Order: sequence, then structure tokens, then C-alpha cells
Amino acid sequence: MADPAPGAKEVVVRVRACGLNRLDLWMEEGKLPVTTALPRIPGGEIAGEVAEVGAGVTEWKAGDAVAVQSNIFCGECEFCARGDESICLKGKLLGVDLDGGFAEKLKVPVSALVRMPNGVDFVTSAALTLAGSTAMHMLTRRAPVHAGDWVLVIAGASGVGSAAIQIARELGACVIATGSSEAKRKFALERGAGHVVDSSNPDWPAEVRKITGKRGVDMVVEHVGGDVLGKCFTCLARGGTIVTCGATAGREVSLALWPLFVKEQRLIGSYGRNRADIAATLDWVAKGKLKASVDRTYPLEQTRAGYDALRARTVIGKVVVTP
Ligand SMILES: [Zn+2]
Repeated sequence: MADPAPGAKEVVVRVRACGLNRLDLWMEEGKLPVTTALPRIPGGEIAGEVAEVGAGVTEWKAGDAVAVQSNIFCGECEFCARGDESICLKGKLLGVDLDGGFAEKLKVPVSALVRMPNGVDFVTSAALTLAGSTAMHMLTRRAPVHAGDWVLVIAGASGVGSAAIQIARELGACVIATGSSEAKRKFALERGAGHVVDSSNPDWPAEVRKITGKRGVDMVVEHVGGDVLGKCFTCLARGGTIVTCGATAGREVSLALWPLFVKEQRLIGSYGRNRADIAATLDWVAKGKLKASVDRTYPLEQTRAGYDALRARTVIGKVVVTP
């Protein structure tokens, strides 16, 4: 691919690190509910340096360290106007609708840049700005966690899960995490979960109810979907909230409405993040409140091996490509 050139209000970023996500696998497999024009460079979790700025860009210069908001937004619609970039009417995804970060360089609108704080390195940023900021968006904006809450994090060893454990705990919650293997549960405990349950046991919700003295949890951080969502309702206390940002295990579920309204429970959707969530995520990293979990890094030429590892579910933590 030719090097991109910046247009007006655009910036070319030299990619130093780009996190690999399940989204990239789905894109490759044609499993996203959108059509992708080819050729397309995937990769949406980007950290790097400004290489070149286009006309009208005054606030950035070559060499500035940046993270990139992968939800490219128009900045003009009613939702952007109120700061909800993640639900922009004309939203585009880097690495799906536009060329992404598994490349030496990429071109983005200047509005997508987030300044990287001192003390945060490229790999750490690329390990947290997509999944980590997704968790930040869920737990601080869509369904704010309160001190003393019981929070259940589904798949605590995943990118979203491991960040959610740390954020919930930092906000004063008691965290229970699920994990399908001993190694994943150990990892969740190391991230700060107070309790773990084995999700390979079909009756794991009973374990959650037992830990909370039959009360149930105040919040569930869900990103799996399918049958798991129904089990999350079994774990939920009266007045509790399930916040969901994914549907890996199934996009259509049945819902029992009676307990939902009788127990005044909430099911809240969460999509992507705003720049403010990325800035908050990186700020937390700089302050030592949030740690990245990088399983391994690959040079650009070995990106394929990174895809294989993520697809084989042998990784715990993030896979990051370092062009
Ligand atoms: Zn918009």
C-alpha cells in the first residue's frame, strides 16, 4: 500500500503499536454486520507518533505521541454535539470502514487524536485504548459503579474484562470475575478480583449468588451475549444493572420481562468510547491505577501469527503488533 498523505484537517500517524482485537478476526472472517470494501488494512487500537500534518492542523506537530480514537466521528451531528461520539450518526470504524493500524502509517482526522501522557509507552497504550477504554466507557459513563457495589465481570481475563476488574475495584466495588480455566481465574485474581467463579461449570450463577449471600450483584459487565446474558440476570440483585458491549456467543437472546420490571433491573447497551474515555484510560495508566496485560507482541510481518494465537484462544491478555 502506498504511504497515506494527509488532507485538510488530517494527520498521518507513524504506528508504533496496534492492539489486536476479536473485531479484527470477525472482519477477516466476514462476520461483522457491515460490508467492508477491500482492500482494507485492519487494526483499530493504535498508538504512535504524528508523522505529518495536513492543511489547517495547528495543534499537533511531527513527533507528538498519540493514541487514536478508533470510532471516527463526524463532530457535527446531534450526538457528537453533546459529546457522544460513540453513537455518531456517521460513525466509521478504523480497521473496518477505514484503513487501520496494522501498517507503518495511517491517516486519520485530526479530531481522532488523543495526546499520550508522559510515562505511558506505545505498547501499553495500544493494549488499553480499545478494550480498556470500552470498559472505562461502560463503568464510568454508561453505568457508573459506586463504592461498595458488587460487580460481576464476565470473562475477567479478556481485554474488556481485565480492565473492568481494575476500574471497578479502583472505584471501590467488590469484584467477582468469571473464567473458564484455572490460568484465567488466577489472572483475574491478580488483576484485583476478590472472587472468581468457574464459567465452565454450567451452574456458575449459583456460585455468584452464594458469594453475595443470595443477594446478587449490583452490576454485571457483560460482553459475551448468547446464553450468558440470561445467566447474568440470574446473578443480578434487585435494582441491578447489566451493561453489555458485545455478543461473541450470540446476537439474539430471549428476555424474561416479568423479573426485569418487578425487580427494577436495567439492561444497558454500550458501544465503543469517546475521546474523553481514552484520555481517562491513559490518565489512569499514568497514575498507576490501571495496568495493561500484554500477553505478547509481534512485528508487523508476523501479524498472521498474532491472529492465529487470538483465534486459538491461547492468549491471556493482549496481543500487540509493533510495526
Ligand atoms: Zn456525529
